[in-house]
Amino acid sequence: MAEKKIVIIGGGVAGLSAAQAARETDAQAEIHLVCGEGRLPYYRPRICERFTGLPEEKLAVHDADWYAARRINTVFARATTVNRETKQVRLNSGESLPYDALVIATGARGNIPEARGNDRQNVFALRTLADIDRLAAYTGPVVIVGDGLLGLEAAWHLSRSGRAVTIIGRNDRLLSRQLDKEGSVFFLRLVEEAGVHVALNGELTLIDEQRAVLVDGRAFEAAAVVFAAGIKSVTNLAAPLGLEVGRAIRVDERMQCSQAGVYAAGDCAELAGHTAGLWTVSNAQGAVAGANAAGGDRIYQPEAPSYLMNAMGTQIWSYGAIDSEEAEGRRLLSAGRFGKLFFRASRLVGAELIGTSGALSRVKKAVDAGLPRDAAEELWHALELPSPTDLIMTEERRKTMKYKCDVCGYIYDPAENDGVEFADLPEDFTCPVCGVSKDNFSPVE
Ligand SMILES: Cc1cc2nc3c(=O)[nH]c(=O)nc-3n(C[C@H](O)[C@H](O)[C@H](O)COP(=O)(O)OP(=O)(O)OC[C@H]3O[C@@H](n4cnc5c(N)ncnc54)[C@H](O)[C@@H]3O)c2cc1C
Repeated sequence: MAEKKIVIIGGGVAGLSAAQAARETDAQAEIHLVCGEGRLPYYRPRICERFTGLPEEKLAVHDADWYAARRINTVFARATTVNRETKQVRLNSGESLPYDALVIATGARGNIPEARGNDRQNVFALRTLADIDRLAAYTGPVVIVGDGLLGLEAAWHLSRSGRAVTIIGRNDRLLSRQLDKEGSVFFLRLVEEAGVHVALNGELTLIDEQRAVLVDGRAFEAAAVVFAAGIKSVTNLAAPLGLEVGRAIRVDERMQCSQAGVYAAGDCAELAGHTAGLWTVSNAQGAVAGANAAGGDRIYQPEAPSYLMNAMGTQIWSYGAIDSEEAEGRRLLSAGRFGKLFFRASRLVGAELIGTSGALSRVKKAVDAGLPRDAAEELWHALELPSPTDLIMTEERRKTMKYKCDVCGYIYDPAENDGVEFADLPEDFTCPVCGVSKDNFSPVE
C-alpha cells in the first residue's frame, strides 16, 4: 500500500508538533512541513530577546538534523492555494504537494488597528524574526501600542537596548488580563523604575514622521511605532477550500475542520469560539492534529493557561481566576515581590505573583487541586522557600527521564540534548520557552 501523504502548512510550533506527532503515529507516512518564513520553526515568544543580544541560532527549536532523522521534509515556500478536488497544495515555488491528510497551521499576524499613518514604513506589528530585523534599523525613540504581555516584553528589551520607550495603553492599567488592579498598580511602579514611560487611557489617532499622537492630544516622539494589540488569524487558504471560518478556522476537539481529513491547529484555529494565541496551546493542538492526520484518534483537552513574563527586571506570573472578590490579603513577600491568592467558596481558584520565581509549579498545582483556604499559610511559606525535589529513582531511569515545565509545558528530553540529564543542567538553567527556573520542572512519569 502506498505511504500516506501528510502536508502541514505552516512552520510554527503548531506545525512542528503536528509533524512530530504524525511521525510518532505513522512511521511510514510521507510528511511535508511547509515553512513560509524560509526558516525552520523557532521560539517565537523569545524574538524580542534579539534586541538584547540573543543570537538567532539559539532561537531554532531543532536543527536540520532533527527533521532529517525523523524524515520530516521541510519545504521553504509559501502555500498559495489548496485544490480540494485533486488534493494538492500549490506552492509559490511552482511546485505542488499532493496530500491524503492536510494540517493547516498558518498561525496569525499582529493586528494593526485603525490610525492615520498606520501604513508608514516605520510602523510594525511584532510577529516574526523578519519584523525584528526591520525594527532593529530604527535606533531612535519607540512607541509601543498595547498594554499586554507582548507590549511589555518588547518594551523591556527595546529599552535595555538603549532606546527611549513609551507604552500607550488603552486601559487604565497594565496587564489587565493577567493582574488584578492591585497587582497592576504594583507592577506599574516597576515599569516606571525600569525607565519605560507609560501613557494609560490612550487612544492612538495619528502617526506622522516623528510622533504618535493620541485622541486627547498627547503626543510622543517616535522613530518607530510598534503595535502589540492582538492578533489576526491567517485563514486565507481555508475559505476557498470550503472550510467553516469564524474569526479563525473552526475545528472540533479532534482539531478536525468542517471537512474530513483536514485539520487546523494553533493561532489559526478556533475551538468552541476561542483562539488562545498561546505557545503552549498551539503546541498541544498541533500534536493532536498531527496524530489524527496520521490515523490516530486523539482529543484536545484544554488546560487553563498560565501567563508568564520575564521583563522589567522581574517575573510576572498569573494563573486561573484572578477576578474573584474573595482574595487573600496582599502579602509583600519582600521588597519588589508581590503575591495574591484568589479563592471562591474557600477554595483556591487563582494566583498572581510578581518577583518570585521558585514555587510557581507548587502554586499552580494548588490551584488545580482547589487548595482549601485554611491551608494557604503553607503555600505562602512555599513561596519563600521552594521545596526541593525528593524523588528517588534508579540511575538508569534518571538518565533518560524527561522533565516538563509546569508553567508552559515545554518538555526537556535528554535524548534531544546530547544525553545531558536534567539533574546535570546548571542551577541557572531556565526553560527555553518561558524562562522559568529549574525548580518549576517536574519529572514526566
Ligand atoms: C513577540 C511574541 C511573544 C510571545 N510571547 C508568548 C508567551 O510568552 N507565551 C505564550 O504562550 N505565547 C506567546 N506568544 C504567542 C505564541 O508565540 C503563539 O501563540 C504561537 O507561536 C502560535 O504558533 P502557531 O504555530 O499557531 O503560529 P505561528 O507561530 O504564527 O506560525 C505559523 C507559521 O505559518 C506560516 N504560514 C502562514 N501562512 C502560510 C502559507 N500560506 N504557507 C506557508 N507558511 C505559512 C507563518 O509564516 C508562520 O511561520 C508570543 C508571540 C509573539 C509574537
